[in-house]
Amino acid sequence: MSNISILQQYPEYEVNIGIEVHVQLNTKTKIFCTCANEVAQQPNTNICPICAGYPGVLPVLNEQVVNSAILAGLGTQSEITPVSIFARKHYFYPDLPKGYQITQHTEPICTEGKVNIRLEDGSTKAIRLIRIHIEEDAGKNIHSPFSNESFVDLNRAGTPLLETVTYPDISSAYEAKEYLKNLRSIMMYLGICSGNMEDGAFRADTNISVRKKTAKELGTRCELKNINSFKFIGDAIEYEIERQITTLEEGGMIVQQTRLWDEKNRKTIIMRSKEEAADYRYFPDPDLPLIEVTKAKIEQMKEQLPELPEQKVKRLVSDNGLSLYEADIIVNDIELANYYDRAAKINSSKQVLNWILRDVLGYLKESKENLLEFKVTPEKLAGLITLLETGKINNHAAREVFEEVAKTGKEPVDIVKEKGLEQIGSSEELEIIIKAIIDENPDVVQKYKAGNERLFGFFVGEAMKRTKGKGSPNVIQDLLKKYLK
Ligand SMILES: [Zn+2]
Repeated sequence: MSNISILQQYPEYEVNIGIEVHVQLNTKTKIFCTCANEVAQQPNTNICPICAGYPGVLPVLNEQVVNSAILAGLGTQSEITPVSIFARKHYFYPDLPKGYQITQHTEPICTEGKVNIRLEDGSTKAIRLIRIHIEEDAGKNIHSPFSNESFVDLNRAGTPLLETVTYPDISSAYEAKEYLKNLRSIMMYLGICSGNMEDGAFRADTNISVRKKTAKELGTRCELKNINSFKFIGDAIEYEIERQITTLEEGGMIVQQTRLWDEKNRKTIIMRSKEEAADYRYFPDPDLPLIEVTKAKIEQMKEQLPELPEQKVKRLVSDNGLSLYEADIIVNDIELANYYDRAAKINSSKQVLNWILRDVLGYLKESKENLLEFKVTPEKLAGLITLLETGKINNHAAREVFEEVAKTGKEPVDIVKEKGLEQIGSSEELEIIIKAIIDENPDVVQKYKAGNERLFGFFVGEAMKRTKGKGSPNVIQDLLKKYLK
């Protein structure tokens, strides 16, 4: 199934997608207590009376959560609300013992932001954010696969979250994936979220509706929940677009539902219909103070803003001469971006990028190592490339040194010395070798001179063999051209 075909088939339709993302903040402690904000192995071991929701306890707001929210707002060009408030969102669920979730309702800390995405034709589109608000996470219900029982684990209760909500500006699966990738990158560059989707640190709920382009109101929407990879979100959206248009074209109606992605059967399935959804009752939380963010505070936070992905792509293209495609590959992975920046600071040649894309990524893929523990540090890679560019070693030796650094973590210069890999670049030394090759192979020389130019490679190969791969290819070629005339 593909939405390209369905939208081509029914060009009178358009798609409206809005996305809510829960960004789990990586603060040291939880939002209203001093419990560590980390994943605990045993259920209900990382809790206290506050996050476990005992009656009568008082929450104390973690300042770092507010700072992270301000950074998220600045990173998405949002308005920061001078005075925002917390609200209680009432509902009953076993993983929420106190009977309400502390969140923000009428006055969220950030409003009217935007995240730019690049479309397939290279143009830029701004996805507008309605709001970013602060809230606490609930616990987890665990349903036993063995018996008809359920258990409650409150370790996650009180984990700080930012919920970011877009306008229904997104009009395809492609745009949805780009938006999510960019938003996740921004949060990771800001250093406020691990971005780990498998652990649920970045969770997206997607609202999709379709309508005829002539319609004034949005169509009835369905929500896709609990999908933890960009690819599956894209697949689920494409399926939903086709399902909704087909249903309408067959004279049916879209019922407001929450749906899940069934990866095995590659379709969305109903989780619950919205009629069953709780009717939340909000009111201001009397236990928590107003959150006041002064202009001075915003200025101070602006100074802490790191270079964000969009700016980094622009800089790599304009200052370092990367193509947009190359810059995207580097910037999409924050660790790779840091690696590249450190290496490029020492050696500014384009070779740095080539080596990273070809050799570093190739090696890591093969060895399943991770960039942070990779023994070829950016400094060592830059050093190796300098040895290559100054003619101390040739390409062949550089590859060997690279492999050796990757295994041992030794300095490239030391490996070159140890293994005697210095390039033989002196003409005198190479001249002797080349003259010998020519003398010993008169018939090959004759064939070459008779017009079989492919035999040039034979002489180069022979010279490399006799120098044990250490001859300078440029000098060898020059000498061969001279003596084979
Ligand atoms: Zn606690």
